[in-house]
Amino acid sequence: MTTSPQDPASDQSTRVQLRPDLETLPMYVPGKSWPGALKLASNESTPGPLPSVVGAIAAAAQGVNRYPDNGSVAVREALAERLGVTAEQVSVGCGSVSLCQQLVLATCSPGDEVLFAWRSFEAYPLVALVAGANPVRVPLAPGHVHDLDAMLAAITGRTRLVLVCNPNNPTGTAVGRGELERFLDAVPSNVLVVLDEAYIEYLRAEDFADGDLPDGIALGRGRANVVVLRTFSKAYGLAGLRIGYAVGSPEVIATVSKVYIPFSVNSLAQAAALASLGAEAELLERTDVVVAERERVRAALLAAGYEVPRTHANFVWLHLGGNAAEFSTRCAEAGVLVRPFAGEGVRVTVGDAFENDQFLDFALSDAALALARR
Ligand SMILES: *Cc1c(COP(=O)(O)O)cnc(C)c1O
Repeated sequence: MTTSPQDPASDQSTRVQLRPDLETLPMYVPGKSWPGALKLASNESTPGPLPSVVGAIAAAAQGVNRYPDNGSVAVREALAERLGVTAEQVSVGCGSVSLCQQLVLATCSPGDEVLFAWRSFEAYPLVALVAGANPVRVPLAPGHVHDLDAMLAAITGRTRLVLVCNPNNPTGTAVGRGELERFLDAVPSNVLVVLDEAYIEYLRAEDFADGDLPDGIALGRGRANVVVLRTFSKAYGLAGLRIGYAVGSPEVIATVSKVYIPFSVNSLAQAAALASLGAEAELLERTDVVVAERERVRAALLAAGYEVPRTHANFVWLHLGGNAAEFSTRCAEAGVLVRPFAGEGVRVTVGDAFENDQFLDFALSDAALALARR
């Protein structure tokens, strides 16, 4: 389209006054979908919802002429009982990403700093920028794991929020309880630390030294500056319904609830979350299948010569450097969608055995191996 000086769209004084800082804000890039292609790009759960959960959603559909419970009371009470906290310590949000943004809004004024590792979850810089805060990225240590000492050293008088994604998306690495404890003890008590535990259900005690299995809820006890984020999107298989939760001190949780968009957690999501908690054992059994598959996939990739850090989540990280984008394109041509991070690597969701075999077929092909061995 061409514009002329007479065109009102090109006249700054008549254009709608939007926030200038948002002009350069990148869009969140979701995992791609492609008809017929296998999607291993968004860390979703492969099996569909349990019949009992579908039943609860269908029953709740009968009531959608009414507004949802704005306080998600039933879900908060069920979670509180399970986690050994009070309902006042739990806030439910429209996905944990939404709670992440609420936490930034609750802590940051324009110019304040939100600190996180990089590379980590793509949404972190965006939620910081939307709130007018400055994202501060601290590079991961060798091994693609959080460098908690460097993060500690990066805290300034403007730091309001520190995000620790554990296990880390997209590298799958995790820091143990002891290391987290030392970190939390050293962070100033007036700086909020958010432990994003979206993949906590995929951690296994045997992968950690005795007593070192990290658990944000336990770490948060007695620490008013710790908030734990968890979600129903991954192990509980409700990504399409958008529901997650935060656990923290009553004071922080009350403030987080003030910046909640009213009624944004819908009634179907609340019913599905409750039903999923009722079927928890069955859902968590599914994670055992994923854990066994991730070890199989990683072993096959390592044997073929890929660099794949030890993963504690439902995905593997292939460190491919400059070949990441091409690897992802070739993989898509072979019918499998993965998540590329140009210049760094690709993140591949661990699905069921059939899906993983399809990915491995490509990854172990000569064309792919040429990209692995740079
Ligand atoms: C998937 C994911 C979430 C969950 O997001 P929802 O909004 O609950 O779907 C949160 N944090 C990280 C790091 C994730 O990878």
